[in-house]
Amino acid sequence: MKDCVELLLNWYQENKRELPWRMDREPYHVWISEIMLQQTRIEAVIDYYHRFMEKIPTIQALSEIPEDELLKLWEGLGYYSRARNLKKAAQKIMSDFHGEFPKNYSDILSLPGIGEYTAGAISSICFDLPEVAIDGNVMRVYCRLHNLDWDVSDLKVKKEIGKRIQEILPKESGDFNQGIMELGEVVCIPGGAPKCDECPLKYHCLALLNGNQCLIPRKVVKKEKLEEEYTVFIIRYKNYYALHKREDGLLKNMWEFPNHERFLTFDEVKEIIPHITSIRMGITNTHIFSHKKWFMSSYVIEVDQKNNDYTWVTLEDIQENYAIPTAFMPFLESISK
Ligand code: SF4
Repeated sequence: MKDCVELLLNWYQENKRELPWRMDREPYHVWISEIMLQQTRIEAVIDYYHRFMEKIPTIQALSEIPEDELLKLWEGLGYYSRARNLKKAAQKIMSDFHGEFPKNYSDILSLPGIGEYTAGAISSICFDLPEVAIDGNVMRVYCRLHNLDWDVSDLKVKKEIGKRIQEILPKESGDFNQGIMELGEVVCIPGGAPKCDECPLKYHCLALLNGNQCLIPRKVVKKEKLEEEYTVFIIRYKNYYALHKREDGLLKNMWEFPNHERFLTFDEVKEIIPHITSIRMGITNTHIFSHKKWFMSSYVIEVDQKNNDYTWVTLEDIQENYAIPTAFMPFLESISK
């Protein structure tokens, strides 16, 4: 891989697309574009980005914009919590960092809505800090270059790739991170066959050498529908816990702890649940119904504001007055101890 670093940097210099947020290394520009790019293709983001910057040109303006105006600008991008988090992060920058975007990785990571990938991207692109930014493109390119038949949906794989890339990261970390992502987006593409003829790394690529480039990364066979994964949120505000009434499907109209299909990472939970002040992993549980099996993980979350989507109840009240389905009982027991 070391041999590839220089080739990649040269290729990126010559081939990088001219994008509005690449005109400078201003962290505000990179930050907004990275959050928009989490959900939409580059071509679609450009218009949104221009409109956003016209209306909200600075961190201070973002911290002060009325929420309905912000959400209107975000309309069509989906995931409104990301827009709300932008404003919260801007307010934190104004209050905790004197209005200046923080310049180190851990401070950047502390901002609402910013996970490891985004913190790594901003740190490297704007400040040339030695931080990796691992997304699906990076993992695909890395696995193909090394002919690794790894399951890139596995968090352990992501961590391992991050560790290995960290070891060869050049001082131009921002260009390297952008280069490998760009290569994954336009040359070493997902889905159909990668454009190996155009690839600057083709003479170093072990997947190409072995004819495996279309087989990597490995397609993970989806689990049978009968097995489902859930992440349960034990959300606490002062002495109150959030409950939610299930609207449909299995356990319809039953009270439950809020939950989300599939297992979520810390970063994903931060995107979904607003006003988090602390978060830790909770217990896991497997519950077997007559025709379904639920694998449930949980997070214990403290918030500093109530979310009106939920009903807030004390522990005693839950125990006395709410019928909690058996599948959720271990979670109730875990907080009762
Ligand atoms: S040679 Fe082909 S498979 Fe290998 S990194 Fe380049 S585009 Fe991807």
